[in-house]
Amino acid sequence: MFNNRVKIKELLQSESTGRQVVVMGWVRTFRNNQFIALNDGSTNNNLQVVVELGLLDEATLKRITTGASLKVTGEVVASLGKGQKYEVKAQTIEILGDSDAEKYPLQPKKHSLEFLREKAHLRFRTNTFGSVFRIRHSLAFAIHKFFNDRGFLYLHTPVITASDAEGAGEMFRVTTLPFDNPPRNDDGSVNFKEDFFGKSTNLTVSGQLEGELGAMAFAEIYTFGPTFRAENSNTTRHLAEFWMIEPEMAFSDLEDNMNLAEALLKYLIGYVMVNNREDLEFLAQRLQEEEKQKPQAERSELGLIEKLEFVLNNAFERITYTEAIDILLESPAYKKKKFTYDIQWGTDLQSEHERYLVEKHFKKPVIVTAYPKEIKAFYMRQNDDGKTVAAMDILAPGIGEIVGGSQREERLEKLEEKMAQMHIPAEELSWYLDTRRFGTVPHAGFGLGFERLVLFLTGMTNIRDVIPFARTPRNCEF
Ligand code: ATP
Ligand code: MN
Repeated sequence: MFNNRVKIKELLQSESTGRQVVVMGWVRTFRNNQFIALNDGSTNNNLQVVVELGLLDEATLKRITTGASLKVTGEVVASLGKGQKYEVKAQTIEILGDSDAEKYPLQPKKHSLEFLREKAHLRFRTNTFGSVFRIRHSLAFAIHKFFNDRGFLYLHTPVITASDAEGAGEMFRVTTLPFDNPPRNDDGSVNFKEDFFGKSTNLTVSGQLEGELGAMAFAEIYTFGPTFRAENSNTTRHLAEFWMIEPEMAFSDLEDNMNLAEALLKYLIGYVMVNNREDLEFLAQRLQEEEKQKPQAERSELGLIEKLEFVLNNAFERITYTEAIDILLESPAYKKKKFTYDIQWGTDLQSEHERYLVEKHFKKPVIVTAYPKEIKAFYMRQNDDGKTVAAMDILAPGIGEIVGGSQREERLEKLEEKMAQMHIPAEELSWYLDTRRFGTVPHAGFGLGFERLVLFLTGMTNIRDVIPFARTPRNCEF
């Protein structure tokens, strides 16, 4: 058996000295031919391995370079150096893999996030990305725990679909047809009957419609998987491939939906505060340093952990879209013409408006409800005013929209009417309409963008830095 190692996190936490251990990891630094800072990814805290004079020959010492991988056996002893309680006094050191110090891209110094994006295959080995991806992992785990504890069924919705849930036309096509010479119909259009599935297919933009089918039998379901949008928006908040959490609940209205979303977000914050304290503290510190570079006016009032605590301990503000528009129209920012986009009842809130509401006006997460029906999807439930639908978006500080959801239209005639108005062919969605034909019930759900959640919890500011390998317009490396 090769793997008899103890993880560095565990070793540093346990309170015993004198025992023999095997540790394996990658060298972060090697000082004075004597002190190795070894990291195995279990924590940002490196293990100090002490190499006593004469243990290794000159040639081996030279091979202990940043990035090299080692197997160390030795004794755990109390550390005299500052910064750690324990260290390992090496008895044997085996070099598992060399790393040419001249060529290794990660020097033991601070690299910019932009540089590290180009080296995304190695950036996991830095403190920042170590913390970010351990928190991302924790969040994924906590999401499953949250829903499982509440009796939600995890439904695997398909990645390849023939339906366009939003009618948004931002889909990646899936095909096996030769694109240089596809089979054609008499009118010259591509004949998708000859394609793999016998029809035109795409990567899913959302699992919601299939999720609703599940909710109509299991009552409470959630999906958690990758979704794809070919939207050409090169922003710090959009990816072409991102992960989404989509619960769907039968026997529920918009308020139940808001309550669930708020409870979920708070649960996740609480979970990470307890289980990833060390990584959060590291990122909070990092953010603080970063903020120092900014002019006073742009600095955030709260540190990362204070921000999370604040969100955890305060009820989210709940307002209607109409109220939001009124607040914006009355705002000093609007009067001083600070907004780029116009504000008018009936048009969608732009990111600058969302951030004004959250960061300047309310200074906490805001749930906006009752949006004009024209700017929202066909499946959202019509309100009695005839003008708005039972939608809800949650806006978070520093992020903008983090959740988008609604109570769904459960009344068959209303739904058919809406689909006709929006030119959505009912035949293609007859399976969806069946849920309204056979035992329809009030139901609601939402989509939480996983990477936006990770942004929020880590204080990172670019979505490319919270997914292992980002897919964005003109960029698909690794
Ligand atoms: P936005 O207006 O920010 O583009 P949206 O209205 O298109 O968002 P929805 O279709 O409601 O978003 O999707 C649900 C959630 O998925 C959003 O609230 C957001 O958290 C996340 N999301 C949407 N598009 C993206 C994307 N391209 N990359 C990452 N996350 C996304
Ligand atoms: Mn979008």
